[in-house]
Amino acid sequence: STAHLIQVIMANFIAGETNKTIADRLMNLDISKCGITQCMYIWIDGTGEGVRAKTKSVNFVPKNAADLPIWNYDGSSTGQAEGRNSDTYLYPCAIYRDPFRGGDNKLVLCDTYKYNKLPTETNHRKACKETMDKAAATKPWFGIEQEYTLLGQDMHPFGWPKNGFPGPQGPYYCGVGADKVYGRDVVEAHYRACIYAGVNISGTNAEVMPAQWEFQVGPCEGISMGDDLWIARFLLHRVAEEFGVVATLDPKPMTGDWNGAGAHTNFSTLAMREAGGLKEIETAIDKLSRHHIRHIKAYDPNEGKDNERRLTGLHETSSVHDFSAGVANRGCSIRIPRDVAEAKCGYFEDRRPSSNCDPYQVTDVLVKTCILDE
Ligand code: ADP
Ligand code: MN
Ligand code: MN
Ligand code: MN
Repeated sequence: STAHLIQVIMANFIAGETNKTIADRLMNLDISKCGITQCMYIWIDGTGEGVRAKTKSVNFVPKNAADLPIWNYDGSSTGQAEGRNSDTYLYPCAIYRDPFRGGDNKLVLCDTYKYNKLPTETNHRKACKETMDKAAATKPWFGIEQEYTLLGQDMHPFGWPKNGFPGPQGPYYCGVGADKVYGRDVVEAHYRACIYAGVNISGTNAEVMPAQWEFQVGPCEGISMGDDLWIARFLLHRVAEEFGVVATLDPKPMTGDWNGAGAHTNFSTLAMREAGGLKEIETAIDKLSRHHIRHIKAYDPNEGKDNERRLTGLHETSSVHDFSAGVANRGCSIRIPRDVAEAKCGYFEDRRPSSNCDPYQVTDVLVKTCILDE
């Protein structure tokens, strides 16, 4: 029965808990004179959403990704290769400080290549980098608002009553108080972890659905948007793991009168940011209006299927089927912030990307449509 299954799952989680006092004692050992840097290689798996990681010791302190060796893993265990031909390559792309291990230890963001050295199906970084290099002179900036939901060990939203629902939405957005927000420890710990790592995190807030939160990364130029957001996501899952909760990027974790989760993507070029840039913004929006389906396909890892559950036209979303744009309107595909309309320059917000989107795909297609006319 379901009840029994849940009992078994709960028992496993409890069995998986460890003594953090003992862990802390060993994590606080000083290994700085041992001549070893722990490098945690991180990559996107075959789902296009999951992150995987494994660690390599090196006997030097890397200054940038190019200092580190190419490595490999068993792609047949991540949905990225056949068992008979499983070796898949990890190419270091960017390095960050490791907030868990501290010291000189690193997080190493990698992209993935098949046995024949072609990118894997979920390696969207390679193409994105090529696009960003072509558009570099226009200085494209992005800021992504990553919404997510914390789940308890029963996979029900964290802090929600076990057999029911909290009161209707209203008091929770940017809420304060034990009856308004659930899981702030996770959010605060994650924020600090991102700052330490070197992620350009610019803020956090509690969201409309209780146990739903947001953090913002940006403005980031070019490829660093995707890099920083993926590391921020890795850190979110890793911090949540430490607290024994789960962070999900599902765009509609609860059906009914509950908000879904998105990854609003704010975008500008140098010309948009300069005096009179509103004209550039309007030109870009006009181009976007002619490529709605192309963008919806790139805005979640299942080519629009995930967003169909979220972009209903309700709960501060536009319909997945229509393109629309407006000033200060949160029911549109594209929103021009009021202060941008008044200043006649700045940026615009694309509200369509799903919470589980790949930021490399999102930023790639924005630049292709709005700048490169590709
Ligand atoms: P909202 O009002 O939609 O909730 P947020 O404050 O959560 O907006 O997020 C705004 C985002 O816009 C931030 O990630 C910020 O980095 C980004 N941003 C600000 N200025 C620019 C710009 N000129 N170009 C691109 N992104 C920008
Ligand atoms: Mn926001
Ligand atoms: Mn939000
Ligand atoms: Mn927004």
